Amino acid sequence: MSESAGEGTPGARKAADKPFRLLPKVDDQNAHFWRGGAEGELRFLRCTACRSYVHPPAPLCPDCHCRELTPEAVSGRAILHTYTINHHPWIPGFPPPYVVAIVELPEQDGLRLTTNLVNCELDAVEIGMRLQVIFEAVDDGIFLPLFEPEMTADMTPETTPNTTTHTNSDPDADVEAS
Ligand SMILES: [Zn+2]
Repeated sequence: MSESAGEGTPGARKAADKPFRLLPKVDDQNAHFWRGGAEGELRFLRCTACRSYVHPPAPLCPDCHCRELTPEAVSGRAILHTYTINHHPWIPGFPPPYVVAIVELPEQDGLRLTTNLVNCELDAVEIGMRLQVIFEAVDDGIFLPLFEPEMTADMTPETTPNTTTHTNSDPDADVEAS
């Protein structure tokens, strides 16, 4: 019972005062990854020699051992590779259930990321579903890359000029216009 006594309890553990996510340790090697969300970009180190993406960040390319790796933005699209639905309240303030996911990015075979799947009904979660990155701003300029179901093209309110290209070729268009 005492466990759920909540905030204000003198004996409450420190962890309860922190944001509900465990924050990563940001250093020179991984800052591009954790801070890229400030510009809306999901970034990975990429080998300048063989063009492999390297994740998790490492000082050299595991494929060709080149040491020149530079951060590069990817599309932010992904496929759900595998997942588990967590029902246990491991993290104070982060109530279950939630989806822990491993997503694979289309840019490279095996380029995967452990993350959370959000904005998705639990019974709609499906291996192979198409996802897109969103960023959750947390403390210290860190942006956690999370994934949500991909919006289809006609749902995006962005400027997609699809509709303007059709009209001219239709002879009936004139009649309607006049
Ligand atoms: Zn390489």
